[in-house]
Amino acid sequence: MTTILGCIADDFTGATDVAGLLARSGVSVSLRLGIPETPPSDAAPFEVIALKCRTAPVDEAVADCRAALAWLRAAGAERFFWKYCSTFDSTDKGNIGPVAEALMNDLGAAQTVYCPAFPENGRSIFMGNLFVGQQPLAESPMKDHPLTPMRDSNLMRLLAPQVTRAVGLADRLTVAKGADALQARLQELAADGVAHVVTDAVADADLAIIAEACRGMKLLTGGSALAMPLPGLYRQDGVLAADVPAPVRPSLPPGAVILSGSCSAMTNKQVAAYDGKGPGLRLDPLTLAEEGPDAALAWFAGQPAESNPIIYATALPEDVRAAQEKLGVARAGEMVEAALAGLARAAFEKGIRRFVVAGGETSGAVSRALGLTRLDIGAEIAPGVPWTYAQVDGEDVAITLKSGNFGDRDFFATALARLEA
Ligand code: ADP
Repeated sequence: MTTILGCIADDFTGATDVAGLLARSGVSVSLRLGIPETPPSDAAPFEVIALKCRTAPVDEAVADCRAALAWLRAAGAERFFWKYCSTFDSTDKGNIGPVAEALMNDLGAAQTVYCPAFPENGRSIFMGNLFVGQQPLAESPMKDHPLTPMRDSNLMRLLAPQVTRAVGLADRLTVAKGADALQARLQELAADGVAHVVTDAVADADLAIIAEACRGMKLLTGGSALAMPLPGLYRQDGVLAADVPAPVRPSLPPGAVILSGSCSAMTNKQVAAYDGKGPGLRLDPLTLAEEGPDAALAWFAGQPAESNPIIYATALPEDVRAAQEKLGVARAGEMVEAALAGLARAAFEKGIRRFVVAGGETSGAVSRALGLTRLDIGAEIAPGVPWTYAQVDGEDVAITLKSGNFGDRDFFATALARLEA
């Protein structure tokens, strides 16, 4: 199957987010963890490549994104989406602008739009200024982000130092007039040599207009919400056949394991809410540091596969701090990640084929332990968190990777139930 749209995401969570929104269309979406090592042979209509380049050095980020673009083009894609965070996480150096400009050069695209708006999640853009809820970006908690502190709310001013060509604005007054008016404005800006157009959007209807007006552009850039209307437009245009078969889901043996290394407030609630629904084992980083993971592995080996056990290092902030003071932040994290990765592998060896994983870093560790390279997106469990299907050593598995605060209290039970539906 030829790829219709190729997305490049600057981090894993963002990739899952855009993949999940595209999958709502019912069309197959495949998420690649990093740039695939082999040329495309079984590409899906929508391909998303998850990179880890949000805060990488500019040269590295540009090289990775260009390599991802080359792979997507080889898969047949002619339209591309550069997905970054809805809070425009970047520095004066990049990487949003430099990557967009490099992709435009490779594609011969004279102009692109920048629209990180996600109105449903409180990210809106007006007169080029990005708001997080009711606060301008630079007054939101993003002003104190450790790696990409956002100290200006104006996307034109943020973007200008990151690119070599001119930056302009298509404002909300134009967008509200509809796709034709927006196209006319984009042409006017193009005639003035403006290559990078920040585009206002305060509601989903604005995103629908922007997607309609810009769907012919080789490259679109923004948050995941701008990608959501694209499958419907491609169907209207006949680019995507109306009768693309729905993805086939493997049938999996019963039995799941829940592995939680996130210590976020929501994950703490989720672990508490799962109490009594399956056997549970709490991992303590200090014990792991002294005695290794053997006791946990032995406990796990004794649990019936169909009992859906949970193993968690999830702890309250004071316990996390205590462990970090004794072991150091990095070592405490490594102990937990290594143990959960080993348990994931043990679960697979034991015949478990359903995995629920909580924590961004934890998800990375488990994905590496299972050797995951491709995830086919399935049913959404919570906004931004889908079930996915993958192959491990030639066997089908289902896995959901939930970062930090995603999902509601009952996420674990909901996830297990959703897979049965
Ligand atoms: P989140 O998505 O919530 O940020 P992550 O998995 O990305 O979750 O990060 C949590 C980090 O905290 C991981 O490195 C994990 O190994 C570490 N960790 C988990 N439990 C504990 C604990 N009890 N004490 C100290 N560190 C922990």
